[in-house]
Amino acid sequence: MEEEKLLVRKIESGTVIDHIPAGKGLEVINILNVDLKHNETAVVLVNVQSRKMGRKDVIKVENKQLSDWEVNKIALIAPTASLNIIKNWKVIEKQNVKLPEILVGVTNCPNISCITNTDEYLKKKFIVEKERPLKLRCFYCERIFEREEIA
Ligand SMILES: [Zn+2]
Repeated sequence: MEEEKLLVRKIESGTVIDHIPAGKGLEVINILNVDLKHNETAVVLVNVQSRKMGRKDVIKVENKQLSDWEVNKIALIAPTASLNIIKNWKVIEKQNVKLPEILVGVTNCPNISCITNTDEYLKKKFIVEKERPLKLRCFYCERIFEREEIA
């Protein structure tokens, strides 16, 4: 595989978030509820060489599986990211992050006059109209937002 192997040891179980756009790794680690529990450890590799992307960031999280909320959030910030689920030192599952058709409770509506920004009981809800380039339509105010406005 690649360079990062030389920098950080393999993990026995957990999740490797690969192919994060270079420079986005710290944003991703911020949204992972790291609130890491007793045995959960994370490392962020910044600006790693990548054949596919030139440069990329990589995050290894030991002993942690990501929640759906975390995966959705990663898909917003780092749409190129892929997740490798590790068990017994081996990758048992590989998947690219993907947004669901409807995104609930993951991100706020940038429209300040949107009702979701004043009614705290309303769940923020977006229809994913298009993934690349990203177009999200707020379920309530119906405005359409691009990645730069949302993530
Ligand atoms: Zn809205």
